[in-house]
Amino acid sequence: MRQPFIAGNWKMHKTNQEAVEMVEELVDLVGDIGDVDIAICAPATALAPLSEVTAGTNIALGAEDMHWEEEGAYTGEISPLMLKDVGCEYVILGHSERRDYFGETDEDVNKKVQTALKHSLKPIICVGESLAQREAEGTKDVVKNQVLAALDGVNIDDLKVITIAYEPLWAIGTGKSASTKEANEVIKYIRNVLRNEFGKVADSMRIQYGGSVKPHNISEFMATSDIDGALVGSASLEAQSFADIVKFE
Ligand code: PGA
Repeated sequence: MRQPFIAGNWKMHKTNQEAVEMVEELVDLVGDIGDVDIAICAPATALAPLSEVTAGTNIALGAEDMHWEEEGAYTGEISPLMLKDVGCEYVILGHSERRDYFGETDEDVNKKVQTALKHSLKPIICVGESLAQREAEGTKDVVKNQVLAALDGVNIDDLKVITIAYEPLWAIGTGKSASTKEANEVIKYIRNVLRNEFGKVADSMRIQYGGSVKPHNISEFMATSDIDGALVGSASLEAQSFADIVKFE
């Protein structure tokens, strides 16, 4: 059985003081939960102070992106070694905002996935179609290509630490979530793609849904056959609302 996994993606929000206060409150609200894996993926500036707050708790720390090189002349970038150094366990890779606004390609995402694995960081790989692609009935091709490109050359034994987050672009930050049926159908399809390509390890890989997940709709998503958790944007910024999502049952 796959343990549910709820991760927050703060994006470009919170000063360090705001970050620490929120996570301190979150520890009080969800600190006794053992049957859901919980992560906060925060801006790079907040990771070091947050690692002190999350140490010894059930809340794991994640980054929102990283570079594929370990060090070098890459002004403004953050390396996997730096993320390990501040206690990160997870790293979001290939978020649609990175792909759209910063020109990140499938090839870049693949290099990042390989480097993350090399440094024992667990990738949360985001895939998803745009509204135009969905309307042209291209959803399955888009997610299949993104998933296979991101995992190209990855060792089968490493796959079980990877999470895929299916986030249809038209549902991110819009308040318009995919229906549970639509989301589950695509996620089931992704698992079939993984099974055809890699075999039974597909059954131990977690696939999250992301896109306007809120306290009021999380339980519907979690009640489906194939959705193993959620990648939560705006509703992860506030401790009570994120805690309500974590306690979806
Ligand atoms: P949202 O963002 O929950 O605010 O829609 C989700 C995401 O981009 O990961």
